Amino acid sequence: MFTTGTDSLVHANGPAAQAEMLANCPSATIEFEVNHFALRGPGGLTLVDAGTGPGWSPSLGRSWGSMRQNGIAPADVDRVLLTHLHFDHARGLLDGEKPYFPRAEILIPSIELAFYTSEAARLALPEARRSAFPITAAIVKAYGSRIKPFMPGEVLPGIETLALPGHTMGQTGFLLRGNGETALFWADAAHMADIQTADPDVSTVFDYDPKLAARTRWWLFDRAVEENWLIIGSHLSDFSRVRRVGETYGISAA
Ligand SMILES: [Zn+2]
Repeated sequence: MFTTGTDSLVHANGPAAQAEMLANCPSATIEFEVNHFALRGPGGLTLVDAGTGPGWSPSLGRSWGSMRQNGIAPADVDRVLLTHLHFDHARGLLDGEKPYFPRAEILIPSIELAFYTSEAARLALPEARRSAFPITAAIVKAYGSRIKPFMPGEVLPGIETLALPGHTMGQTGFLLRGNGETALFWADAAHMADIQTADPDVSTVFDYDPKLAARTRWWLFDRAVEENWLIIGSHLSDFSRVRRVGETYGISAA
């Protein structure tokens, strides 16, 4: 569980909208889960993201234990498909400086990898916003030739990418089709889905470009309703569906 303050919310429409949003917040703190996922298929075992790993904060980093409890040893994982390179999605690839998954290939959106290995991009951000750069460098060093950047399209059989820019520039969702149903891993398109479906212009300080993140959400929520996607979010507690509510949206457990 990740806890932060409502001061992590950023309204894309400026100070007046910001003040109104904060006045409507039911409490001063916000909590959300941090999840990642395992897929079994004919091609073996694929993780979607890798969580924080242990040692980041006492309330995070339980997934290594939970994978073991569910019969998943590190050597069982064939590949890890990353949505983006923030710590709570990628740091769990590392055991200290070593790879935690001894065999896995690490599939990373090519735009995302280019961004977080760019010295110019690092220097353009304030110090407090640079944590993904050293984590990326450590992952690249640890996994070497097992790092596989991918372009938009069918990244694995039956899994298609969906660009979700704004939270990070290369954030990528994954559409998984089967049994007449389509599931979307939407990563961090929304962190506080109740608040952000009700007002898609609510972004967070974790969004690289809050206005672009907001535009992505308007488009994404509309498509999620049209296509009746089953939503799997890194910070959602349940598999969910988006619905229209007046001129905006809502979300509930599927
Ligand atoms: Zn993120």
